[in-house]
Amino acid sequence: MTHDQPLKIAIQKSGRLSDDSRQLLRECGISVQNGKHALIARAHNFPLEVLYLRDDDIPQYVADGTADVGIVGQNVVAEAACKVEELRPLGFGSCRLSLAVPKAVAYDGLTWFEGRKIATSYPRLLKRFLQAHDIDAEVHTISGSVEIAPNIGLADAIADLVSSGTTLFSNGLKEVEVIMYSEATLVANPYLSKGKQALLDKLLFRIDAVQRAARSKYVVLNAPNDRIEAISRILPGMKSPTVVPLAEAGWSALHSVINEDEFWEVIDELKAVGAQGILVVPIEKMIR
Ligand code: ATP
Ligand code: ZN
Repeated sequence: MTHDQPLKIAIQKSGRLSDDSRQLLRECGISVQNGKHALIARAHNFPLEVLYLRDDDIPQYVADGTADVGIVGQNVVAEAACKVEELRPLGFGSCRLSLAVPKAVAYDGLTWFEGRKIATSYPRLLKRFLQAHDIDAEVHTISGSVEIAPNIGLADAIADLVSSGTTLFSNGLKEVEVIMYSEATLVANPYLSKGKQALLDKLLFRIDAVQRAARSKYVVLNAPNDRIEAISRILPGMKSPTVVPLAEAGWSALHSVINEDEFWEVIDELKAVGAQGILVVPIEKMIR
């Protein structure tokens, strides 16, 4: 099949998601100009066109087909309520949409919000949350600097994005409820042509390989031959480990791939059954 039309991907022009979005494309082996000046850039080695946009516009552009796919926060997708398909959480841009109140408030539960005024840039998500909890509060929509609203007397509380919480803290606020957890996600127009879908599948194949690699580590360790079986049972690898004899008689090296989270759980067990010289190496790509 020939792909005369490139796949168009919308990413944030500048902001919290732009570096990681660019890096993901790079890790997928796709090289693009950085978009500092241009609004559109064509990749050199993949039929891909990158549109650099404000994050809030991305769901709409993808829904109406101006872009085929996009990288944007789940929070923005949920608030926009556009017809797009969420394909993959991407593991960066983690944050939560939370309710916060002035530090001095003796907060005793959601009913505190009854009859209060809450400032937010996420009116749809906030209203849905309040409704689900049967709280009647006034939602005041503002587009930026939500965290100063209580200080200037504009609202009693806010609903805003939080990651570390330092911004809240330095504005005299404390987080009291989480409305939604979010991370960056790959969204797609649900009505892609066959050709575009084929390109998207190719991109997804690469993204999956990159993500799998990010979660995995290559492990090499030495062991006496009579310990190989015990070690193999402990290693939660993809398949059985590769066993390579060492120059020293009676010893072998075992190679395996394991999940980084599991690694810390099995390391003591490995040592206990005789593993030595354990090396843990990052993996760049992982194809199944
Ligand atoms: P734009 O100019 O594109 O409209 P913006 O100022 O609206 O940018 P950013 O602050 O760059 O947006 O945030 C983009 C996304 O990053 C958010 O929608 C959210 O998904 C994610 N994010 C992660 N951590 C945070 C955080 N602490 N505060 C705000 N957004 C965060
Ligand atoms: Zn924005």
